[in-house]
Amino acid sequence: MGGTEQEYVQEAFDTNWIAPLGPNVNGFEQAIEAFYTNKVHVAALSSGTAAIHMALVLLGVKKNDEVICQSFTFSASANPIEYLGARPIFVDSERETWNISPELLEEAIINRIANGTKPKAIIAVHLYGMPYKAKEIKEISERYNSPVVEDSAEALGSQYFDDKCGSLGNIGILSFNGNKIITTSGGGAMVCNSLDHKKEAVHLVTQARDIAPHYEHSKVGYNYRMSNVLAGIGRGQMEVLNDRVLARRGNYEFYTEALKEYNDITFLPEPEGFYSNRWLSCMLTSSFEQREEIRLALAAEEIESRPLWKPMHDQPVYSKCMNFLDGTSSDLFNRGLCLPSGSNLSKDDLNSIVTIIKNILSK
Ligand SMILES: *Cc1c(COP(=O)(O)O)cnc(C)c1O
Repeated sequence: MGGTEQEYVQEAFDTNWIAPLGPNVNGFEQAIEAFYTNKVHVAALSSGTAAIHMALVLLGVKKNDEVICQSFTFSASANPIEYLGARPIFVDSERETWNISPELLEEAIINRIANGTKPKAIIAVHLYGMPYKAKEIKEISERYNSPVVEDSAEALGSQYFDDKCGSLGNIGILSFNGNKIITTSGGGAMVCNSLDHKKEAVHLVTQARDIAPHYEHSKVGYNYRMSNVLAGIGRGQMEVLNDRVLARRGNYEFYTEALKEYNDITFLPEPEGFYSNRWLSCMLTSSFEQREEIRLALAAEEIESRPLWKPMHDQPVYSKCMNFLDGTSSDLFNRGLCLPSGSNLSKDDLNSIVTIIKNILSK
């Protein structure tokens, strides 16, 4: 926490705004909108997953529709497709950003159009904070008229040329879950290009009540609005977002500098114009065996590290889904490791971590 969160939470108690609406919800949304230099409209929701679900609803995704999703991601990117009875189609990553491959995306869309089932939406992800190739993806999205849901859950504070991640797609989503770069313990947001879209989202997530003295509903609603108490935490967190990004980028720089002489280990540099919040510092080892050796050596010292996200096409729950692959994300999963990446790691912590890694690499 940054320090001012409790004051906003106290305000919610003092004013008795213990509800999924109130001054903190509005204030938090305004703070996020200001971060995006007021070019977008933000709706604060109960989670990033809820935001993806609502984004798909707003884009008109229905039962049996097909939706393309980056395979290399956390399951929450894809699960809302299933909530709607729609069909996920998984697309592999390219090597420069580890995100959805423009070539494979276009191949997938052409294939589905030939089948008479043009994808209703494309879910692209800025994994680990690294922006996806937004220009290429946008061009394809516009060429085939298939809108992009931009999963920016891991990329608040990242930037693609002049634009901040979260504002690159037709609808962007953010997460404030406990493990993200800033947190409200649990929470998320939808980033909209128009006020009408935001209004529609807020209507849907507050049970879709029509205007009437009684309870009148002409649509299926959801209970996905953010609590005014948690939004107070978010207001305080927005004040330290920039510090958190710099701390995470500092971790990444420490690791890359300390391990630069070891040819077995590689990191993902930022392509020209790409700015990553380095939510997690990830490295690639030379083999699955080496990755496991390092992971287990860290675990023996009670230091947690984790393999990269296991791609959705390799997950039992999604094993029957159609996919367009070239082996990239499976390879990244096999050889990749997320290193400790908290914003509060000390130089001593970082030094002990790299010492253990160096011991293995020097053998
Ligand atoms: C965390 C995360 C989500 C889901 O956000 P929640 O707020 O936890 O529901 C979605 N996509 C990605 C890539 C994530 O990392």
